Amino acid sequence: VNVSHELRTPLTAIKGFVETIEADIDDKNRGYLTIIRRNTDRLINIVADLLLLSELEEKGAALSLEACDLKIMLEQMRKIFEPRLREKGLSLTIRADQALPIVMADAFKLEQVFVNLIDNAIKYTEKGGITVSLLQRNGHVLIEIQDTGIGIPREHLSRIFERFYVVDASRAKQLGGTGLGLSIVKHIVLLHSGTIDGESTPGKGAKFIITLPINLSL
Ligand code: ADP
Repeated sequence: VNVSHELRTPLTAIKGFVETIEADIDDKNRGYLTIIRRNTDRLINIVADLLLLSELEEKGAALSLEACDLKIMLEQMRKIFEPRLREKGLSLTIRADQALPIVMADAFKLEQVFVNLIDNAIKYTEKGGITVSLLQRNGHVLIEIQDTGIGIPREHLSRIFERFYVVDASRAKQLGGTGLGLSIVKHIVLLHSGTIDGESTPGKGAKFIITLPINLSL
């Protein structure tokens, strides 16, 4: 049995009853309930990410390939991020080479990659913005996701794709991070026979560079 799967139902029940109690609780206990809710949400996030990872590992090879226009895909995703971009006063710029080739990829899984990376970029950036560049290279497409945030210290860069690895545990907790996002991202990219790397100048931002083959076939 998949443990993550078994955890999901009771957690959903806990969350539901916390919300019920929240409606009429005295001020003395409200603080405790808030802590319970925050931790329940955190557990739910971890379980969801673990479930996703184990699904990728079990039936990972089962990519469902279709012709993807990455520029259109990213532009359609913009609305997911708009509220948080506005809240933080950040920009999101999407740039693409003219006549960017269509790539064969699993659209749903690629979206998860972009959501995770752009979500992180917003999380760890306080001013400036995020630029996504789509570039044509020999036989593949190069995708760069660059932010102007706090960046990642050099000694952590090689490890951030590991499961549960976070640079700053207390900050990750505060921001709701699980340390699983980048392992999911890397897993999906590798399933596509692609590559992913991180670069950073601490204090100036972080950049994630993905290559995807254009004509992947299974
Ligand atoms: P989390 O859920 O904690 O964000 P991830 O696996 O997505 O986990 O990322 C791992 C760690 O890498 C994060 O805790 C964070 O410290 C660092 N990180 C990821 N993306 C960025 C970014 N764009 N800027 C700065 N740090 C980042």
